[in-house]
Amino acid sequence: MMHTTAEQKALHKAVLKTAELRKPRGNHTGRRLRMEGTRMECPHCKATCEIRTSKPVSATMRETIYQCTNVECGHTFVATTEIVRTLSPSATPDPTVNLPLSTHVRRDMMRVVLDNAGEAAHDAQFTPPITGDLFAGDKPTGASS
Ligand SMILES: [Zn+2]
Repeated sequence: MMHTTAEQKALHKAVLKTAELRKPRGNHTGRRLRMEGTRMECPHCKATCEIRTSKPVSATMRETIYQCTNVECGHTFVATTEIVRTLSPSATPDPTVNLPLSTHVRRDMMRVVLDNAGEAAHDAQFTPPITGDLFAGDKPTGASS
């Protein structure tokens, strides 16, 4: 069945309107942000907040300063982000990082896999070479080599 140009235009308009209605509506009363993944809601006015700066507190915690994008609110606050548990263990674990392992992890099965899996050569591109000392860390200050 062929549509006339007017019918096509009406159909296109209806499709666009339906798509517009399906769009998820957040609590955007402030400016829309490019990095939606890092947003946090203002606890006062519920507008989106923007990260102004952040700094590491430890290997597993970061402190972030947020600013509300609603100019009539302007709330600026500090939040912390903490890594609290491991869902999938690192293949190159840092022994100084101690995080609890999620209860869903099948530890007994992992042991069996680690003990019985064969080896295949791989040239690591993003991992520094292994020193061989599991507990190697930075030398204490003032230590001689
Ligand atoms: Zn606000």
